[in-house]
Amino acid sequence: MPCCKAEEYDNWCAAEPTVEYEGEEYCIFHAPAECPEKQDVEAFNKKVFERIDKCKKDGEECDLRGAIFPGYISFSAYDKDNPLPNITFSQALFCNAVSFDSVTFGGISEFYDVRFDGYVNFAYAEFKGYVDFGLSIISESSSFMCAIFSSFCEFSQTEFCGRIDFLETIFCNICDFGHAIFNGHLDFTNSKFHQLVVFYAADQLDMSCDHTHFCGPVLFRDIKILSCRFDDCIIDKHIEFERADISRLSLLRAPIESMRFIDCIWPESKGRKVVYDSRSVQGQGYFPLFNVFGADRFSELNKPPEPGRLADLFRRLKKVARDGADEPLASDWHYAEKEMQRLDAKQNKRPWFALGLWLYKLVSGYGESPSRAGLWLVVLALLPWLAHECLDVIMKTLPRDPLPNVQTLAWLNAAFSTPKEYISASINHDATGCYLYTLWLRIYQTLLLVQAGLFGLAVRNKMRR
Ligand SMILES: [Zn+2]
Repeated sequence: MPCCKAEEYDNWCAAEPTVEYEGEEYCIFHAPAECPEKQDVEAFNKKVFERIDKCKKDGEECDLRGAIFPGYISFSAYDKDNPLPNITFSQALFCNAVSFDSVTFGGISEFYDVRFDGYVNFAYAEFKGYVDFGLSIISESSSFMCAIFSSFCEFSQTEFCGRIDFLETIFCNICDFGHAIFNGHLDFTNSKFHQLVVFYAADQLDMSCDHTHFCGPVLFRDIKILSCRFDDCIIDKHIEFERADISRLSLLRAPIESMRFIDCIWPESKGRKVVYDSRSVQGQGYFPLFNVFGADRFSELNKPPEPGRLADLFRRLKKVARDGADEPLASDWHYAEKEMQRLDAKQNKRPWFALGLWLYKLVSGYGESPSRAGLWLVVLALLPWLAHECLDVIMKTLPRDPLPNVQTLAWLNAAFSTPKEYISASINHDATGCYLYTLWLRIYQTLLLVQAGLFGLAVRNKMRR
């Protein structure tokens, strides 16, 4: 009687001798891990290798679909001098750790819907053909360190439960991480992608791409980034973030000129978009974030960046936004850039520059707030009338005796007695006969003109966006 699982897996094991377990007949490959005949792991592994060797000899694909590997197994004997043939482990179960360290996969390799219950080691492996890890579950950490994927590689809907190392890995063809689930840190440090790489609909992406070289385009779509670094990475084409939650994305050392942001969720502070690197947590940093929960604190080693560096980052982001005709985003980057410049001036003891920027912020929100600029313009325009009315009230309440301060008040009253002159710019010297009054009038008129200019600038900026 053939193995009870034979039909399910296209009868690849139909000719194999069977063992009985709990009233069912199984071949040794499909027998449950608890089966007494499978307790000798070494003997079982030997049978696996014998099967692979036979397929290699016959020039056939090695089918191990649905096989249950009861203990640790290493395929390291299949190195570059003895590569594996086309092989399929689809729907297999590895109950313990598995090592494909330095293994050469000579043809197509299928790991579709495989469950790995232990550590998975593909370090230094070379995949010469198409490889598919779709729908597989890797329950612990896995390493693909220094591996070479020569052909298309698929990790769609793969669930990674632990840390994943792709350190110095080379992807020669398209790489698809669509709908993959990442529960651990994904490390692509020093890796190289020769073609397109896609991250699609990943829920919590925690990855580092330090010194990674992307030769082709990189697409992040519908993803939520938990933590992501692109420090000193090289991008030959572009990285595109579309409908991505990038509120925890670090951009300080990233090549942002090669990045595109479409319909993304940025971290926000007081209604304006900022970057995660400029966050304020527990009194450290600059902008408190209103839409990012559980923002990381700055540690001793990882202090908040200098405001000058952030000003430079915002300036570069502003250019990227303008090049992409995204004027509202450019407006937010402009505001953040000026704010960082002001803090930088304050820190580097340039008080006049800091004061100038502070005034620029106060009266116009760095040329980005028409309501603020308009309010100040109204206040400034009404100032002579207000001053005139106030002085009038004060004069009436003071005693008639000629006190010295009454004389000053009388002069001030005269100075503000003709509010119309402030706007019309016509000076009636007879009103006061004082050059101080003329000077004050000129200063006031200049301030009014400057504020009107700032208001116009802010309105133009707003309307353009
Ligand atoms: Zn079987």
